[in-house]
Formats: sequence, C-alpha cells, structure tokens
Amino acid sequence: MAVPVFKRTSKVLLIYTGGTIGMGKNPTTGALEPLDFNHLIDKLPEFEYLQTGIDVHQFASPIDSSDMAPRLWAHLVSIIADNYHRYDGFVILHGTDTMAYTASALSFMLENLTKPVILTGSQLPLGQLRTDGKENLVTSIDLAASHHADGTPLVPEVCIYFSGKLLRGNRSTKQNADGFNAFESFNYPPLCDAGINFNFHTHEILRPDFSRPMQPHQALDSNITILSLFPGIQENIARHLVESPELRSIVMRSYGSGNAPQHPWLMKLLQEASERGVVIVNISQCVAGQVEMERYDTGFQLKNAGVVSGYDSTVEAALTKLMHLQGLYRDNSIVRKLMHQSIAGEISV
Ligand code: ASP
Repeated sequence: MAVPVFKRTSKVLLIYTGGTIGMGKNPTTGALEPLDFNHLIDKLPEFEYLQTGIDVHQFASPIDSSDMAPRLWAHLVSIIADNYHRYDGFVILHGTDTMAYTASALSFMLENLTKPVILTGSQLPLGQLRTDGKENLVTSIDLAASHHADGTPLVPEVCIYFSGKLLRGNRSTKQNADGFNAFESFNYPPLCDAGINFNFHTHEILRPDFSRPMQPHQALDSNITILSLFPGIQENIARHLVESPELRSIVMRSYGSGNAPQHPWLMKLLQEASERGVVIVNISQCVAGQVEMERYDTGFQLKNAGVVSGYDSTVEAALTKLMHLQGLYRDNSIVRKLMHQSIAGEISV
C-alpha cells in the first residue's frame, strides 16, 4: 500500500563505524582496510545535494566489523542516546560481516525506540566504479528522514537497508558474501521495498509508545556460547563447553523444527545444565521456519530436558537478546521467562 511520505527538513546523524563501504587498498598488502570518513566523503560528491541535514560522528578508529564487540554496541547506544533529541533519525555505516548482530543488539538496547536507526554498508567500497555503497547510503538517509503527516517517523525501528530492501534488524541475517543482496529476513517480510518509489509495509512496522521516552540500556553479559549440533558430536567436547563455570546460556542450533540426536548423554548433559540454571535456547539450523519441539520425539526430549524454544529467531537475535537480558537480570529464571516474549519484534509468538 502506498503511504504518503512527508519530507520536512529532517536532521540525520550519520555514524561511521567502518566496513567495506569506507575501505581502501593497503598499498603494501593490497588488502582492504578501513579509512577515515573524509576519504569516504571525497568519493561521494552527491552528499552536499541531499536535502536532509547531516552531521557525522565517526569512530575514533574505524573498524572492520569482524572486530565488533559488546563494548562498541554500548558505545553506539551512548552516541544515539546523547544525540536522541537533536536528530530525526540515525544511519550507521557498518561492515556487513557482523551487521545483523549489531542491529539485533541495538534493537534490544534501545527500548521504546521512537526514531529510525538504519544500518547500512556495501559489498564494494565507495571508491570502486560498481559500488553499491552510494545507493545504500543515500536511500538509508532518505528512509531515516521519512515521516507521516503528523511528524512521527515511518520506521521507528532498528533496521538494515541493503539492495532495495529495508529489513527489521533483529530478523536479518547475512546470506551472501558476494552478491549485492547481502541480507535477507527469512521469517519476516521487508518493512519497505525501495524501488522507484518507497513502498512501506506499514502494518509490519512496530509502533512504539511516542508518549514514553526511549530507554537506553548498555549492560551486556556475554557469558554465553553457541552450540551447533552435528552427526558425530562428541560427548567429552560438548561436556567441556556446557560445563564451563561462567556459562549462563547456550544458543543451541538444532536440526529442522528443533530436533537433536537422541544420545542419552546429550539429554543428560542438557538437563543437568538446565537444572544448574543455564538457559538453553533451541534455534533451528534452517534459515526459515520455526522450532516446534512437540513435532517429533527428538524435539520433545529436548523440551523435557528443560530446553527453551527460540521460535523463529535468528541466531544473531537469540544471542544478543540473551546478552541483553543477562546484563539486566542476575536471576536466570527471569531470563528464561523473557525468552518466550517478543521484546522488539524478534520472534513470532
Ligand atoms: N569485512 C567487512 C566488514 O564487515 C565486510 C563488509 O563490510 O562487507 O567490515
């Protein structure tokens, strides 16, 4: 459905963290490395013709997003919180490798977000002839500046914009290392298709409480691991991981609709961990569809062992949601309970 889009004079804060979009070749090694934002702006003369007011905040040392870390997510939250009232929206330039993790983390850390926070980047640096960076950046700024007639933003969510699609951040996954369509949201429709016109899918977009303030959270606890099941999984190795004393939760990547091999040692290991308070969240290794532990006996046994359903969550969303909840609550029974609720539209329940 076409939604009227109003472009009053908006102000957007562009936060540059690094990533391919702003990279250049190291003259010695030939490998791509992050450059200062001024190099980036030189490659984008169109920048000054944009109708939106833009200020830039760049990381002191721009990074390849493989170096992204929870302390940098907390830093991003503080940049957004400190500037919240000054801007209509935020665009974060970020490497694609961990963009879905950052988008997921921010969606939980920015509670009751009432403004757009759009992450984007590119597969080819801005300086290269066939770059996808220019379109991704310019469209993200336009999306961040789009409003309803009453002045409320069209997309008050943490999103990823890439290759013509605006996706909910905590539903997105990097799916392609080469193609321009680097991201996909397998279990949730796009929030906007950006062709010649913007086609916003308004009924899919979160509506926060605009009368309440945005509540930033910075505490994250990463005493967590991802355990991917596979035929031939060894007890001693799995035991070593699951019995780590600091471990508070596990994202367990199971088969199909949430199934696991019926090794008695595995069920016992998971049950003992659950009884110690470790929260074990079951996420399917399939990119689409959801966990239904009641469907097969192999899933049912996991449920009996105290494993919690991750529903149709991405791994990135389950992992960062756990980090966020663990940062908020010392008591794992609260964390376990809240994993069943959607906090920022990350699961269909
Ligand atoms: N390695 C790069 C990064 O994530 C890849 C990219 O930006 O696409 O920073």
